[in-house]
Amino acid sequence: AYNFCAGPAALPEPVLRQARDEMLDWRGTGMSVMEMSHRSDEFVEIAETAEKDLRELAGISDDYAVLFMQGGASGQFATVPLNLLGENTRVDYVNTGIWSKKAIAEAKRYATVNVAASSEDRGFTTVPDQSEWNTSADAAYLHYTPNETIGGLEYDFVPDSGRVPLVADMSSNILSRPVDVNRFGLIYAGAQKNIGPSGLVVVIIRKDLLGRARPETPTMMNYQVMADNASMYNTPATYSWYLAGLVFKWLKEQGGVDAMEALNYRKSKKLYDYIDASGFYANPIEPRFRSWMNVPFTLADDSLNGAFLKGADERGLLNLEGHRSVGGMRASIYNAMPEAGVDALIDYMAGFVKEHG
Ligand code: PLP
Repeated sequence: AYNFCAGPAALPEPVLRQARDEMLDWRGTGMSVMEMSHRSDEFVEIAETAEKDLRELAGISDDYAVLFMQGGASGQFATVPLNLLGENTRVDYVNTGIWSKKAIAEAKRYATVNVAASSEDRGFTTVPDQSEWNTSADAAYLHYTPNETIGGLEYDFVPDSGRVPLVADMSSNILSRPVDVNRFGLIYAGAQKNIGPSGLVVVIIRKDLLGRARPETPTMMNYQVMADNASMYNTPATYSWYLAGLVFKWLKEQGGVDAMEALNYRKSKKLYDYIDASGFYANPIEPRFRSWMNVPFTLADDSLNGAFLKGADERGLLNLEGHRSVGGMRASIYNAMPEAGVDALIDYMAGFVKEHG
């Protein structure tokens, strides 16, 4: 079966097999990693290796701290302003879809949010040109969502934020292609697409931005506390952290982020090319900003949606239903989706047109 779910998403099959094989006895310890003390030598090594591999994959220098936190990406919607506002009250956000809007709504609880640009009036089908952004030179940070998971909209550039720290919610496209981390003040990503199990959230923060948390910041949300305690102030999500480490190892074996870029480009191009040529399926996003990770599409006749999904399910093409807020279909094709999965989907789509088109 191929799982096209937007998240939690498919994990690489070799990772799941390894997890199964060692579930009762990890390397002769007679225990699962899940049962191991987070203070044990074994787990500390697992944790450190995962961080080292992530640093290598993403090109993260020593100027940045890497934190393995909890509460998902949504927790970061509050954690970011609480930690980065400092004495400031003003923050800039770009609104390109449902996840941007959620981040904005949460930030408004703590800060004066300036929506520097929005494509809402264009149905979130494009990214506003940066020359039109109304950013503030004195903002505490500029936040954007490089890949809108629900709309299927992805930036093809890193915004220029001048001296203002750039903050990105990379939940649904981290490690899918190379990114210059040095351009960012902070990157966060919920793990459940390209990293591992849900609940875990990876935070990459430039070290000079640590130590600015508002006094009322909950201890568990304080980046400085997390950094000082190697993300083990409390009991971390040990097993999720372990699986994330296995995914990083798998990524390195595949050839790293450069290899993922080539694969993800090929997979998404194939699918969009087929959609555009079909005359039956459609995707509304301006081609330049079509997501490589999440491909929403509609059928020429909505009343066929049920039949499409049923037939897909029968062929092991799972979870293709679009988000409840937009309808239609959505194929999420993260790093772990093999090219054969996209080929099988296109095959099925073409057969469906023959039968119903
Ligand atoms: N941001 C983006 C871009 C997402 O795709 C998601 C979830 O799918 C989230 C934030 C929320 O993540 P979580 O469910 O981990 O809070």
